[in-house]
Amino acid sequence: YQSSRTITTVAKKYVFSKHFSGEPKPTDLKLVEEELPAVKDGEILAEAEYLSVDPYMRAYTVRLPVGRTMIGSQVAKIVESKNPNYPVGKRIVGYMGWRSHTVLNPEKSASKDQIMKDRPYIIPDLGDLSPSLALGVLGMPGNTAYFGFLEICAPKAGETVVISGAAGAVGSHVGQIAKIHGLKAIGIAGSDSKCKWLVDELGFDRAINYKTENIAAALKEAAPDGVDCYFDNVGGDISTTVIYQMREFGRVSICGSISSYNSDSLPKTRILQPAVVFNQLKMEGFIVTRWSDRWLEGIEKNMQWIREGKLKYKETVTEGFENMFQAFNGMLKGENVGKAVVKV
Ligand code: NDP
Repeated sequence: YQSSRTITTVAKKYVFSKHFSGEPKPTDLKLVEEELPAVKDGEILAEAEYLSVDPYMRAYTVRLPVGRTMIGSQVAKIVESKNPNYPVGKRIVGYMGWRSHTVLNPEKSASKDQIMKDRPYIIPDLGDLSPSLALGVLGMPGNTAYFGFLEICAPKAGETVVISGAAGAVGSHVGQIAKIHGLKAIGIAGSDSKCKWLVDELGFDRAINYKTENIAAALKEAAPDGVDCYFDNVGGDISTTVIYQMREFGRVSICGSISSYNSDSLPKTRILQPAVVFNQLKMEGFIVTRWSDRWLEGIEKNMQWIREGKLKYKETVTEGFENMFQAFNGMLKGENVGKAVVKV
């Protein structure tokens, strides 16, 4: 039995007091305290250090009952352990939800009220890198970029890829993988400063501000021969415009559709089938857990690229567990560059 805490007996957590409708409101969530159970054999007490705020939290939560803990992943330090495989001092990443402390058996599942059943894992040695990266470039979003782009788009050197949501955690990463593989990378993002970052620091060939530029015209100019691959994070009109400029046998990797997450009904957009049929396009959606059995491969490859200076990342860090909602809603509104995380 190991313990490094001056016993914490109470956890803080966020529960739904109301379903999200449209843009989430602070009153949709309630910060409550929970008495923690004693740590039993096989269990650990994990203390959150960094919590992730991700778009899927908005998309998935419509199905969750009021009173349930808000879903999400976190990097947590093991502060008490009755499981020899999970010793005190190690850090895990897991889907424990928006909670400050969790008693769990890491060999079973993240926590009883999570919809993501992936088991927590001990973070591989990241050396001098921040453990928070296990929520971003060296975690789920990083693997989403790695597998979702390479496996679904099957990119070839010399081709052109367009990435929407390009300045976010997944999008900024996809563009750099494209550059590593010798493609031309065109990003679409929501501000001039984001576009500047993509081109000046990450090596994108062009970035289009979808709020101020005509995407169709800008794309015609940037990719006059058409687009081979499209990595779609946003859906809606942006995506329809890109897909109508694709070349024959183009591939679309459908990662997400954040432009609709805050809408209570699905918006209408132009019909896609003519573009898909006449250019014989392939479109495929994915959920990153498809590659669970190759999880470490993605992390190791991304870490290698960071060490080689080929992959850069940015985090938008919000301080304080009490600011979870602001971080989450800010991310949905585009206030983040790179990965949005909360530091407890
Ligand atoms: P991001 O870091 O990209 O953050 C979300 C970004 O979306 C914001 O910064 C904002 O940037 C942009 N955005 C918000 N509203 C709109 C809109 N109406 N139109 C266009 N862009 C908008 O998040 P992630 O990188 O974590 O996720 C990106 C996408 O990948 C999401 O769709 C997510 O659901 C999906 N995803 C899918 C996975 C899978 O397994 N399929 C796994 C992980 C993520 P801006 O300023 O540019 O508007």
